[in-house]
Amino acid sequence: MMKQITKIPAAIDLEKGSNDFCPGCLHSASFKIVSQTLDEMGLFDKSAYVQGVGCCANALGYIRIDTIACPHGRGCAVAGAMKRCMPDTFIMTYQGDGDLAAIGMAETMHSANRGDNITVIFVNNGIYGMTGGQLAPTTLLGARTTTTPFGRNANEHGYPMHMCELINTLEAPSYIARVTCTDPANIRKAQKCVRDAFQHQLDGKGFSFVEFISNCPTNWGMTPLQSLDHIKNVVLNEYPLGVFRDK
Ligand code: SF4
Repeated sequence: MMKQITKIPAAIDLEKGSNDFCPGCLHSASFKIVSQTLDEMGLFDKSAYVQGVGCCANALGYIRIDTIACPHGRGCAVAGAMKRCMPDTFIMTYQGDGDLAAIGMAETMHSANRGDNITVIFVNNGIYGMTGGQLAPTTLLGARTTTTPFGRNANEHGYPMHMCELINTLEAPSYIARVTCTDPANIRKAQKCVRDAFQHQLDGKGFSFVEFISNCPTNWGMTPLQSLDHIKNVVLNEYPLGVFRDK
């Protein structure tokens, strides 16, 4: 495993001149919080990062940090193994909902249930973004996607899955929070939650999990501003924000 990790100077990549995310995508805000917190806590040269599959993988272009790419959905399993091999290294994953909550549901739940001492950043925009806007486990009822053109209905497609609430049924996890980046007040709360989650790992308390309620203006068929209003007026009714656990 160690041989697959690329050794490059740990720092924010200031040479990066462009943004690989679509205009208005909140991935850029959530990953900025993550990278800023790594920097503020002096963790860049003590960290390794597990890259999820999907739009979240674009985030890798913005920081220089030891990184490993793993098969779709396996982020938590790989991160847990890395932590066992390198207990003094700060280990985090950055994953979307198709990666973490669909293909990776088993890996995520078992890692949380073991209390792996890792930090998981989960970006939930309720859709498969990179692959063209298909139904995800987190898609809201009634939402139109490329695989549910008449809207998600519970009889055919089941109900939206709530990862914070599911993980909160387990004994082992140490920190669980849901945040968003729709406005400055929520960005400040998100910054605190990411810092707290990182501190849980540094204190050896076990599995810490922060879910970002995010957007996908491209596949939602909305302008960036419309997508922010949609989060505030619709999505947060299904996925309420807050700290679910702080041991
Ligand atoms: S496809 Fe959606 S999630 Fe992916 S970068 Fe574009 S707006 Fe963001």
